[in-house]
Order: sequence, then C-alpha cells, then structure tokens
Amino acid sequence: GEIRIGLGSCCVASGSEEVKKEVERAIDGTGINLHLKNVGCVGMCHQVPLVEVVDEQAQHKLYARVKPNEIPDIIHAHFKPKGLVGKLKAKAYDWLEKMQTDEVWEGVDRYAIDVREEMVSSFLDRQLPIATEHRGVINPLDMDEYKRFGGFDALKQVLQMEPSEVIQTVKESGLRGRGGAGFLTGLKWKFVAREKGEKKYLICNGDEGDPGAFMDRMLLESYPYRVIEGMLIAAKAVQATDGYFYIRAEYPLAVTRIRQALMNCREQNLLGANILGSDFNFDIQIYEGAGAFVCGEETALMASIEGNRGFPTIRPPFPAQRGLWGQPTLINNTETFAQVSYIIRRGKEHFAGIGTEQSKGTKVFSLAGKVNRGGLIEVPMGITIRQIVEEIGGGVQNGKKFKAVQVGGPSGGCIPASLYDTPIDYQSLIEVGAMMGSGGLVVLDEDDCMVDIARYFLSFTQEESCGKCTFCRVGTKRMLDILNKITSGKGTLQDLEELKYLAEWTKKGSLCNLGKSAPNPIITTLQYFYDEYEAHIHGHC
Ligand code: SF4
Repeated sequence: GEIRIGLGSCCVASGSEEVKKEVERAIDGTGINLHLKNVGCVGMCHQVPLVEVVDEQAQHKLYARVKPNEIPDIIHAHFKPKGLVGKLKAKAYDWLEKMQTDEVWEGVDRYAIDVREEMVSSFLDRQLPIATEHRGVINPLDMDEYKRFGGFDALKQVLQMEPSEVIQTVKESGLRGRGGAGFLTGLKWKFVAREKGEKKYLICNGDEGDPGAFMDRMLLESYPYRVIEGMLIAAKAVQATDGYFYIRAEYPLAVTRIRQALMNCREQNLLGANILGSDFNFDIQIYEGAGAFVCGEETALMASIEGNRGFPTIRPPFPAQRGLWGQPTLINNTETFAQVSYIIRRGKEHFAGIGTEQSKGTKVFSLAGKVNRGGLIEVPMGITIRQIVEEIGGGVQNGKKFKAVQVGGPSGGCIPASLYDTPIDYQSLIEVGAMMGSGGLVVLDEDDCMVDIARYFLSFTQEESCGKCTFCRVGTKRMLDILNKITSGKGTLQDLEELKYLAEWTKKGSLCNLGKSAPNPIITTLQYFYDEYEAHIHGHC
C-alpha cells in the first residue's frame, strides 16, 4: 500500500508535516507494509492537509483536512498490523493516542471523498494538467519516478534535433509566454538563437509578486525537474550555456527543492559539460530575489542579477540582443518552461489542438477570494469564467451572488457578472479591459466594494513603483490620493474625471509594464461599476 501526503508550502502551513510524522509513528513496528510518499501540490488548497491512501487492492481513498489525531483510524480502516508484535505495537500506539487526546473522533468517512467520484467530477474534472502533469502522484524530487513518467525523454529527443527544428516545433505549437504579455515563445527563442555573443544566458523568471498569486511557487516546489527540462530544451535551442533561476527569497521551499533538483541533475549528467554524452554544455545557478515587484520585469530582473538596483530600462535593446552582462539572453516565465517538454513529447499538433485559435494549451491560475473551492488550477484556454467559478470553484461562498472576478492581479482588471461567460484567453481578456497577467483569479461577491478593490491593487503598485519615471511615480500616487478621498466620503464627480485622465496618462507615459498596467483595476471598475464610485460620492455607502 501507499500513503501520499502533499508537502507544498500551503500543505505544510496547514499541518501536513505533523500528519506525515503521525503516519510514521502509527505504522512504526506494526509490520504494516506501507510506502509513505511525499507528493507535490495537487492544487486543492481548500482541502489540505490531504492524505491519499492506496490500499493493497490499489483502491484509492482521499482524506481531506486531516488532523494528526485522525491518522490511527485512517490507517486502521485500510491496513492491518502483522504478527503478534505488530498487533501489540498498534494497540499500544492506539492506547497512547487516546490518552493524549480528548477530542472525540467520529469516524473517518466524515472526511472521506472518493477520488474517482466526487473529487474528479468537481474540482479536477474540468482541468487539464500539462504544467502540473501527474499532480498529487509524483514525488517532486524523485528523479527515477520523473523518468518513469517520461521525464527527460523530450530532452533526449531534442539532443538529436537541429536547434532550428526545436524552435519551429515550439513556434508551431502556439505556446505563448505565460508571464503575462503572451508573446509567442518560439519567436522569442528565434530572436535569441540568431544573435551572436561571447556566450548566451537563459533565465527562468520565478519572481512572482502579484498579491494572491502562487503559480510559480507551486510549479517550482512540485515540478522542479519539469521546469529544468524545459530550460535545458530552450538552452539547446538558443545555444545558451549559462542558466539562472531567479526566485523570490520569500519562497524558501522552492529554493531548497530547486537546489536539490539541480544537484541531482548534475549527478546524472543532465547538467554540466557534455550533457548525456552530447556536445551540449549548460548549467544553472539560483539567484534569490529580494522581493521587489518590479524585478519581475525582464530588464529590472537582469539589473538585479548583475548586482544593480532593480530599475527597468528602455527597450530596445531587448534582452534577446543585449541582456545579462550585455549578452543575448532568453527570459521565460516558470510556467512557460513547465509546458515545453510536454510539447516535444506529445507533439506540436497535440498541444495546438488544446485551447483556442489564438491561445493554445493551458493556463495555471490561482483561484482565490469568495469561492467555495479555491486553489491552484490548470485549465484549457477558452474555458469561461463562469465554468471556472461554478464548476471548478463550486460557486460563490455562502450562497452569495457573484459580482466580479479580478483577473491578472495589479496589472489586470475586474470583469463583472454581465461578462461571466467571457472565455479565458489572451485576446478576450484584453477586449474586456483585463489581461491574463500571470494568472491570479480573485472572486468577488455582492458584499465587496469595487472602489476598495481598485484602491487595494493601486496601493500595491504605488508602493512597488520603482520611481524611475514621473508618470508612474506621480500618477499612481495621485490616483491613490483620489481613491482615498472618494472612499472617505469626500470625493466629487470632478475627481472621477481626473482619475480617468490620470489613468490614461499613466498608461501612456510609463516606461515599464508595472506603470503601464497599474491603472487597469481603476479603468475597469470605472467602466463597469461607475455607480459604486457615485454612491461613495453621494454618501450612499
Ligand atoms: Fe519604475 Fe514605474 Fe517607471 Fe516601471 S513604470 S520604470 S516601475 S517608475
């Protein structure tokens, strides 16, 4: 039998380490033949700690929100101690447990959800895991297991291919950068490949800073080899020799797992000189970012690695031409790299068959806010907001009415209930005034004040503005002042006009995307919830 316990940061914060220790204690000396397996994030953050039992008949049972003192009953429901010593050990353990806890345990089925029935049909069924392939099954650091699931097969294939062929495959798959802007990945690779330099660099952008977003963290913690394999394939395609992981220092578990995964790869000749006996040389080091939101911007990120202040610079030159240390550099988001091996393994046609005409494949989102089932989800492009909230998220909490969804964090916008059936793809989101961003989805209900929401996101960008250019530095501050005035009941209709004017000019005049997109939450709330601004001004709320 096997017991799988999720050990991502969210799971650990909810007590999964304690649950794991309890399983170890419960089976110790009992003769129960049980493999205790650490798995990565399964995305069901609303249900952690999760314990999945696979019994000797290969039947699966998933227990949600497990507490350590529930472990003995879960174990006994599926496994029997062996021999006299085992039975005595189990009895002694039970007796000790009962002495230690005064909580009354009402039976395990209260928490049990059958994997194949309710869970699959609700939270997981509408999803399509590509970046999160084998979620909840694979041990993040078990290299042999990753290989058993086809890991590094794509790299082996790529080592036999011409770089131009690899780039063409990725281009024709339709993969677009998952960091927010949605630039065609294959084209970006082509731009780097055709440049000449002393050497070329490759960077995985794991500087996730949007409030409420945790896609990169989860991918780095739970699928380190998948991201590394994507980087190796990209490096081979553009002929880069030096790679960097840029990861926020606030993600210590991600840093630890990536560090260990890199060491394991070096041991297996998957990094370093003459990778797998070929003439391809590539290695990766980790750079821990200090948490400035603006460092997610490519040019600021490179300045930060070079030891300078994280200031964005004007493009051109683009990183592909003159990037890190003045050399041609490829920067892709963590999720983009996590999709690459799948494309090579399953074929560009297969990938291009998923999603919509202009947006291929899947997107990972962190689903949060007033939704019944929040967590990390991966869905095919083209799925509607309604399907995500109602079918995956189980609807709005406490039977309240859906009011809007905030898409894309501080760079994104608020989409109202009247546009509930908007498909999630790059183009459709831009058409309604939002953007994909890196993939935050915050569900808002009838009790949420949209002016407050706009103010919250703007206060974030205002604080994170690096101050280099006037439109962003002054524009975000002035807009925030006006929003504070409105929410404190002192606003006028004239302020709304000024807000529109400032939003327009901050968008136009800012140098980098932080400033360019900072007004989006204001623009969309003014567009769809103007009456709420008026209500504040007229003292109706
Ligand atoms: Fe800095 Fe804002 Fe200008 Fe970007 S737009 S460079 S964050 S001041």
